[in-house]
Amino acid sequence: MNARPKKSFGQHFLHEKRYIDRIVSAISPRDGDTVVEIGPGEGALTLPLLAAAGRLTAIELDTDLIPALRERAAAVGALAIIQADVLTVDFTALASQLGATRLRIAGNLPYYISSPILFHCVEHAAAIQDMHFMLQKEVVDRMAAEPGSKVYGRLSVMLQLACRVVPLFDVPPGAFRPPPKVDSSVVRLVPLAAHELHDADPLRVHAIVKAAFAQRRKTLANGLKQLMDADAIRQAGVDPGARAETLAPADFVRLAKVVDTRRA
Ligand code: SAM
Repeated sequence: MNARPKKSFGQHFLHEKRYIDRIVSAISPRDGDTVVEIGPGEGALTLPLLAAAGRLTAIELDTDLIPALRERAAAVGALAIIQADVLTVDFTALASQLGATRLRIAGNLPYYISSPILFHCVEHAAAIQDMHFMLQKEVVDRMAAEPGSKVYGRLSVMLQLACRVVPLFDVPPGAFRPPPKVDSSVVRLVPLAAHELHDADPLRVHAIVKAAFAQRRKTLANGLKQLMDADAIRQAGVDPGARAETLAPADFVRLAKVVDTRRA
């Protein structure tokens, strides 16, 4: 226990019990849930989650942490540890391996790769029941931002098209060892049901959103000119003179569909 935290792995271990308790009660794991934790570290969340769910699969990159974690979990429940970079784990395949219809994913995420982890989870959203993540507060603010907000951007649109984003509460740096330089927040993500999902090609939607926000100050006609002209933007019911930050997530889907038909 209490290994020296590794900066390169984004290790900030939670030690304040009241925040651990709040996260566990936000998740409310039930016996039989298929819980998957990203980055268990020394087990601050793992052990209480395991106690409640009876079994848990944890994905940890740092081999040095695994023996102690395994030992501490032995008396608590059935812990399976996958030593891997979470970005290489196929959650859809993992759900079927574990015999689950959908996974409940949780984690105090390593902040240096939090956005790639979020995008990775979104790709597998159909295999996920819900996600509870500790992230930098600034990232949670961006995820939940609405059109017109200064922090509304690619992350807001891509996440909101796939999930309901529910910010839960903030956690101060002092709750971690060592304290991170930033404030943190816990967020719940609930993948949208099949009938709520848009039917545009996700790669096209992503390409549109990326291009539109790459040049926030430019009009859409300018920002999207490599992908579509002003007429096509109008055809999607969007003003070519508008800026990306004023568009609702659904507007980007309509733009992607026009690109689809024009290229088909
Ligand atoms: N869950 C513990 C806690 O709350 O105290 C640790 C959280 S710490 C912020 C992030 C954890 O993610 C560390 O254990 C770190 O080793 C692990 N980690 C870092 N990069 C990872 C990756 N690519 N895949 C899986 N785990 C990773």
